[in-house]
Amino acid sequence: MRMIDIIEKKKYGKRLTKAELSFVANGAGDGSIPDYQLAAWLMAVWFNGMTDEETAQFTLAMRDSGAVADLSSIKGIKVDKHSTGGVGDKTTLIVAPIAASCGLKIAKMSGRGLGHTGGTIDKLESIKGLTTTISPDRFTEIVNQNGMCVIGQSKGLVPADKHLYALRDVTGTVDCMPLIASSIMSKKLAGGADIIILDVKYGSGSFMATRKKAVELAKLMVGIGTSAGKKVSAVITDMDTPLGHNVGNLLEVAEAVEVLKGGGDSDLREVCHTLVKQMLLHAGYTDSEADKAIHKSIESGSALQKLADTIRLQGGDSSWISDPDKMPKAKFQQTVTAEKDGYIRKTDTKLIGEAAMLLGAGRAVLEDKIDPTAGITMLKKTGDKVQKGETIAVMYTSDEAKFESAKAMFLSAFQYGDTPPAPIPLIYKIIS
Ligand code: URA
Repeated sequence: MRMIDIIEKKKYGKRLTKAELSFVANGAGDGSIPDYQLAAWLMAVWFNGMTDEETAQFTLAMRDSGAVADLSSIKGIKVDKHSTGGVGDKTTLIVAPIAASCGLKIAKMSGRGLGHTGGTIDKLESIKGLTTTISPDRFTEIVNQNGMCVIGQSKGLVPADKHLYALRDVTGTVDCMPLIASSIMSKKLAGGADIIILDVKYGSGSFMATRKKAVELAKLMVGIGTSAGKKVSAVITDMDTPLGHNVGNLLEVAEAVEVLKGGGDSDLREVCHTLVKQMLLHAGYTDSEADKAIHKSIESGSALQKLADTIRLQGGDSSWISDPDKMPKAKFQQTVTAEKDGYIRKTDTKLIGEAAMLLGAGRAVLEDKIDPTAGITMLKKTGDKVQKGETIAVMYTSDEAKFESAKAMFLSAFQYGDTPPAPIPLIYKIIS
């Protein structure tokens, strides 16, 4: 088989065979296909797409390009969740301890943030002492004992995606439905869980700008996971404004603690409730049992305790959870005020994420170092009425020089008007 023939075939929009798709996945994984050919193939896929069957076959081939996690020594129902990426998305820090305190097993591999989106590993590693690099044996031990452990993506898993994702990033081929679906689902299938819950974001802070596209992606991923023998649901959620009120690593840990203590913003609470509920429904709970179990885990403090135990078992300072005032604060803070009177009609959420990144909360390239204390607290969001000069946000950073560009970026995200915007559904649809 020759890569040039596979490129030619896709260039003319023809369907690739399972063997050809495996050839591409294996060649991307073991480095035997040169980058220039992979890049050409990616662009051909970007223009001509793949059928759902091709996408499913490519996903399994990507999964099999490396090791598949063996979770057989973890007792109980193993659950994973994945968000397609957003701004202020700290749901894993809330959903995982609630689910674990309800008896599910969260053996989770998470990623780092890149560009305007945050990543769970960066949020967890902002806690003093905490490590997300844990041996497979210790990982299994922690999950069996505690019900929950979160580690970084294992090196041996889905090497094809690692290579292809890096190439997509520099060849303008990230925003391609079959490539996104196969990238996400190959990693979820390799992660080995029985139940997979997908949080597919739509709106200005996400990969999928429209609800229609998000639904299409969700259906594709649910189909791939289900045909691979997993129980899968996708929840389509709004990312047209940041989720909750904090954007930035330690700020988001503090906000997750607020929710686990029974407080927090209603949008964040509702998205988390919906995600855990889907996990519990797949695990056999009835609708009302699931609602009750979630409320109980928060009211009793068991979910908060689960987060504290996880942090301790992963080497972190769990006293930060019982006493969030112990968390380090940014050296500098500045308020941001509204530039106009009126309703905030629209927010370009990607720009909010980029402003947080400029303050030090994220990285433009993987080698950049994160400032765990940097970020933004949003005091006003889409739909709120504001007066010119009113404080709409507080920015935090360790480097004062970063305020100017971050503030300009942040302010450019808002559109004002005289009337409130039409409400956008927070949970648009659940696809099972
Ligand atoms: N997240 C992934 O893991 N892959 C994509 O292609 C997009 C988002």
